[in-house]
Amino acid sequence: MNTAAFKVAVVGGGISGAVCASTLARNGVSVTLFESARGPGGRMSHRREKTEDGKELSFDHGAPFFSVSKPEVQSIVQEWESKGLVAEWKEEFGSFDFHTRKFNNIEQQVGFSKRFVGVPGMNSICKALCNESGVESKFRVGIGKAEWLDDEKLWSLTGVDGQNLGQFKGLVASDKNIVSSRVTEVTGQPPPLGLLPKTSVVSILDGRTNDLVPDRSNANELVTRRSLFYPGVSPTPNRHPYDNHIDFSLVPELSAKLQNLPVQPCFAVMLAFAEPLSSIPFKGVSFENSKVLSWAYCDSCKPNRETTSERWVLHSTAEYAEGIISQTGMKKPSDATLNKVAEQLLQEFQSTGIHIPEPFFKRAHRWGSAFPGARVAPEEKCLWDRNKRVVICGDFCVSPNVEGAIESGLAAALRLKDSASCL
Ligand SMILES: Cc1cc2nc3c(=O)[nH]c(=O)nc-3n(C[C@H](O)[C@H](O)[C@H](O)COP(=O)(O)OP(=O)(O)OC[C@H]3O[C@@H](n4cnc5c(N)ncnc54)[C@H](O)[C@@H]3O)c2cc1C
Repeated sequence: MNTAAFKVAVVGGGISGAVCASTLARNGVSVTLFESARGPGGRMSHRREKTEDGKELSFDHGAPFFSVSKPEVQSIVQEWESKGLVAEWKEEFGSFDFHTRKFNNIEQQVGFSKRFVGVPGMNSICKALCNESGVESKFRVGIGKAEWLDDEKLWSLTGVDGQNLGQFKGLVASDKNIVSSRVTEVTGQPPPLGLLPKTSVVSILDGRTNDLVPDRSNANELVTRRSLFYPGVSPTPNRHPYDNHIDFSLVPELSAKLQNLPVQPCFAVMLAFAEPLSSIPFKGVSFENSKVLSWAYCDSCKPNRETTSERWVLHSTAEYAEGIISQTGMKKPSDATLNKVAEQLLQEFQSTGIHIPEPFFKRAHRWGSAFPGARVAPEEKCLWDRNKRVVICGDFCVSPNVEGAIESGLAAALRLKDSASCL
């Protein structure tokens, strides 16, 4: 297989995109990975904070750990373990019931799988994969637009700032927002894979059919159907910054599967204490019968963490997060909202009756789409369009966790590797 000239763009440096990029590179495909955040990790991120008096703190404020059961994922995790990128987190976990006010040892009741964490932070795995030979990684580069050039059979990418980012034979999109109208609710912009230049519409209307737009008689009418693709966005094409483009999904079959994908939000609250919380018998606690709190983890108790302070991360229930979002909307939350959330979660934690002193640091983070509420490709593990050599992967394809995202990233790499060998 001659894959030397087969250039692929991977959008997103979370675990599914990073696994896909490194697998492709190991198979001789030339990969450029674009990530809008300042570093890799996505929902496996690790966050550095500084207190007012200059103390450095760090937290895994997304996924606190992961477990694996599938043999193909187990063998990858073994490789990461042998390289020192992950370690087993061996502390005991329990639950706390707000009705009975008692702790229970859940591991004795239900058994448990090994828990793995990235070391020294959850993002270490993505960092290492994004640095592998053959993967060129570009951070702080958000993809604003992906266009399919039908004559050249290439993908052309443009950054959110309008910069031309080059042309690629294959495209991997590792975030559902790349085709979903949800991105419009958050940023006010259309999704990158949701636009076509006006000139391309003519060829679509002439040739390839599209079931999502029953009436193809008038290209202008497509403009007025913005709300069909981006519910809640009013059809004002003359004033829209993407004036030269007509809303029309490039990959309608794939987009249709992601438009109404349910997602569950979550707030994470990072806390740092001067002393250990020794009245808590477990280092990971799930909460029963609380409308506010779902989990608490001792972040500084994980292997290879800095231990001069004791750091905990609290996770809200989805119900609580939905309540806050219904009041504040999907736009970036204000400091006032985040402070209120941090205070409410801390109060709930303290209302257990366990001795929990005042932390010297507390900060909340919102995960608007923490967990997908459905699986869109449980069999194939990714969505793909062979003709346009585009693959969509991520946890929402398989299962809402790190293992599902890894499986999906592997499947995406396999699809594109096969496309490369057919060229
Ligand atoms: C609070 C919380 C707790 C969790 N707990 C667990 C747990 O205990 N165990 C477990 O296994 N899993 C857990 N998870 C889920 C786990 O983190 C995810 O399933 C997994 O990390 C998803 O990886 P992904 O690659 O599919 O997506 P993501 O990590 O979301 O990666 C997508 C990436 O694409 C980037 N991106 C999006 N659009 C663009 C664009 N236009 N241009 C450039 N880049 C873009 C994003 O910035 C992001 O980095 C948790 C998640 C959260 C938030």
